[in-house]
Amino acid sequence: MDEEQIALVTGGSRGIGRAIAIELAAAGYGIIFTYKSNDQAADETLNIIHSRGGRAEKIRFDVADSKEAAPIMNEIVAQHNNIRILVNNAGINADGLFMMMPEADWDSVIQTTLKGFYNVTKPIVKMMVRKKRGSIVSISSASALMGNRGQANYAAAKSGLIAASRVLAAEVGRLGVRVNVVAPGLIDTDMIKGAPVERIKDIIPMARIGRPEEVAKVVRFLCSDDASYVTGQVISVNGGMF
Ligand code: NDP
Repeated sequence: MDEEQIALVTGGSRGIGRAIAIELAAAGYGIIFTYKSNDQAADETLNIIHSRGGRAEKIRFDVADSKEAAPIMNEIVAQHNNIRILVNNAGINADGLFMMMPEADWDSVIQTTLKGFYNVTKPIVKMMVRKKRGSIVSISSASALMGNRGQANYAAAKSGLIAASRVLAAEVGRLGVRVNVVAPGLIDTDMIKGAPVERIKDIIPMARIGRPEEVAKVVRFLCSDDASYVTGQVISVNGGMF
């Protein structure tokens, strides 16, 4: 895989991350994707990419756990100095009204999104700056912008991702690295199982939920040279919901 350009996608075993991994593989990138625990889903992503002639490898670790992530990220950077794309996609939700929210639900959502961003992005952006080339896209959410009830932890984490990305874009723009955010609306994945989809559809101008592939195509655009003058931006993919 060392001769080609590589895209690293966190949370690539399922949902939006899987669609991004498949999309970037189709665009010619060698894929390294991470996941937390679902080996079967990770193997399915691998099989899809391989069956279409792409190249991919999976790596299991918890992005929120610095002790677990640091040696693995160091190893990834040591083995691959040609990572051109990083997509920070791994994320969880643990919805509930703020007044009832257990501390553990606050911490796990913030840790996964924001500590995950730190643990993965820091080693990769340093490598990209050395190469004077790279594109980082982080997956935030319409929740960061809207203020949905029951999502204080999730909205705080996803807003933090936007803020951190804007700062990073300002810091590394002149060093050849672009940093952007995609904010999806309601997308058809495991994460929204149990959500009141029919009710939410009423507030979506396009009157439907989105497909993971519709997010992936925007990510691919932002990572490509077609977006060569785009950095520090938040692009919504939400059917007009917000
Ligand atoms: P899914 O629940 O379908 O998939 C989540 C992915 O993240 C899985 O690959 C999972 O791995 C991985 N993951 C979760 N926690 C960790 C962790 N601590 N370390 C490493 N990997 C982890 O989610 P979606 O595809 O729906 O969401 C992807 C991203 O998009 C998330 O950041 C989410 O917040 C965001 N988003 C989703 C929306 C939606 O409507 N679906 C809307 C807006 C934003 P494993 O399979 O091993 O569990």
